Amino acid sequence: EGKLQLVHRHIRAFPDFPKKGILFRDICPILKSPAALTAVIDLFEERVRSHHLQVDLIVGLDARGFLFGPLLAQRLGVGFVLVRKKGKLPGPTTCVKYDLEYGTAEAETQEDAVAPGQKVLIIDDLLATGGTLYAACELMKKQQAQIQGCMVIIELKDLNGADRLKPHSVFSLLQY
Ligand code: 5GP
Repeated sequence: EGKLQLVHRHIRAFPDFPKKGILFRDICPILKSPAALTAVIDLFEERVRSHHLQVDLIVGLDARGFLFGPLLAQRLGVGFVLVRKKGKLPGPTTCVKYDLEYGTAEAETQEDAVAPGQKVLIIDDLLATGGTLYAACELMKKQQAQIQGCMVIIELKDLNGADRLKPHSVFSLLQY
């Protein structure tokens, strides 16, 4: 079995969560399987290397980006930075408002998280409308980071999130 099939087999769908009409893709089975989790990080690392992405920092999104981002950062030998929901980070922060597939939110980073000119790769579990990753890109722009792209396990193609993120590249392992 290939790595992609292994990952695919560890994603399940729940209808009408968290709201009626939404088919929620649950990545928790990946975390329960050491082999599937390793496959995700292997595939992420392979994308970084095959596209010759220069990365100084991995930026992970609250909350499921925190599960995969640090593992990739360790593989690449770089640091990890958190983009959190508003009100969770101490010290001076940068903040942006954004729309979700269901609702609105605010995202925040610590002002000293990224130095101007640093090359960042932004990680989350899933790209839906792109609102969340767009907010992270806005935050990184405010911090004068060089965005090398966004990387997710799952891309929901019908919602055209990748268009919203242009000109930044989206790397996704699986497309639904
Ligand atoms: P977007 O902002 O692209 O519309 O939504 C993506 C964000 O919402 C991500 O942070 C992701 O974790 C979460 N999300 C939305 N739908 C799903 C889903 O079906 N499964 C999972 N695991 N996360 C989702």
